[in-house]
This record gives sequence, C-alpha cells and structure tokens, in this order.
Amino acid sequence: MSLRVLLVEDDRELRQTLQGALQVEGYDVTVSGSVADAMAVLRHSSQASPAESFDILILDLGLPDGDGSTLLHWARQHYALPILIISARHDEWNKVGLLDAGADDYLVKPFSISELLARIRVALRHRGTTAVAPITHYKDGEIEIHLPRHEVLLQGQAVKLTPTEFKLLARLVRSTGQVVTHRQLLLDVWGDEFVEHTHYLRVYMAQLRNKLEDNPTEPKRLLTEPGVGYRLREST
Ligand code: CA
Repeated sequence: MSLRVLLVEDDRELRQTLQGALQVEGYDVTVSGSVADAMAVLRHSSQASPAESFDILILDLGLPDGDGSTLLHWARQHYALPILIISARHDEWNKVGLLDAGADDYLVKPFSISELLARIRVALRHRGTTAVAPITHYKDGEIEIHLPRHEVLLQGQAVKLTPTEFKLLARLVRSTGQVVTHRQLLLDVWGDEFVEHTHYLRVYMAQLRNKLEDNPTEPKRLLTEPGVGYRLREST
C-alpha cells in the first residue's frame, strides 16, 4: 500500500510539480491550497478508515487564509503524523519555533525534488512509519560509524574521539538526516543545566569536524543549520 501524503501549498504551479514528482515515487498524494481546506481534509481522513489517514503532511507557511504555523499547531495537537515545512526564505518564520512546535523538519524554497524526497524518507523513518530499528550505524563514503562498538572509522582507520565528542556524534547519528537543535544537543549530551552553553557545542563540533571532515571549514557531513542546530548528512 502506498504512503499517503497531504501536500498543502497555494502556489498552483509548485503544487502540481511536487504532486507529480511524489506520485512518480509511488506516494498517494492529496493536495490542498488553504489552512481551512487542509483542516477539513485531515478531519475527514481521520474519521474515515485508518487506510485513509495520512502518513505525512507537507506544509507551506504562506497560505491565503492564514499562516501555515496555525495548521502546524492544530495538526500537532490532534495527529501523530510527521510534518515537513516548506517555505520561502523571505517568509517570516522562526525555524527553531517551528521545530519546537512539532515540525519534524523544514525545507527552504527553492529546493530540489531529491532533497524533498530525502527529507520525507528521513521524517517517515524517524516517526517509525517504516518500522525500522533505531539507527546505530552510519556509513557514507569513507566514513563508518558503529555506535554499539564505539567505533568510528575514516578510510578504514580508527578515529580516536573523546567521550563527549563521541556522545555528540552518536546523538547526530541517531537522527541521521534530520536537524537537531542546539538546545536538544546540549540537553542530550551535556544535560539540562547546560542548555544555554552553546559555545560548548561550537567547540566540540569544531573538534569533530577536524577529525572527520576533509575540509573542516567546508563541512560536507556535519552540516550547520544557521541559527538552529546541526544535521548529519544522510548517507547517499
Ligand atoms: Ca505560499
């Protein structure tokens, strides 16, 4: 059975492009162009059979009858489905606020279809829709990380990490492909009394990049999401 996507986007051309691309990938796509209509569609789907409920919501923020974040808050209160925000850079939006409000991830327009598809896969995986075990292993090109073995290999050679560096890397591996906020990283790696100490993160991220990136000033794996957090690139 194909996964069901609700795509909420008022730009007709973009909506049709995305719908077509998602259908090619085998998704069952329902489209909507406003907050009110999307709410009605979601309500209807949840009242119908479980097969009619959506697996993921892709949500534009600038909608004709309101802000998509209204829909985000409302949907998060009522449904467990992953929510992916798509929005233009010039729209007023606070990425951290959206993630705190329950968005699973965001994409800034314009984005490539392959990027969207990757984010959808990641969001579905993290929500357990595809019923996979937690991520404990990461392999991308020359780097391989095996969490249970506490092992990090670069070109087959073991990389020595400090316990804190390893904890930070492990946290990112468990959310591979997904942005993890500064606050979340500080909380999970250092503990709740350290959530304001973002300089810890900068220091340790620099150390990790020195050990794991070919060019630490232009990271290709440990990516910065400006003002939000960090993301370990999904392996390709
Ligand atoms: Ca729009």
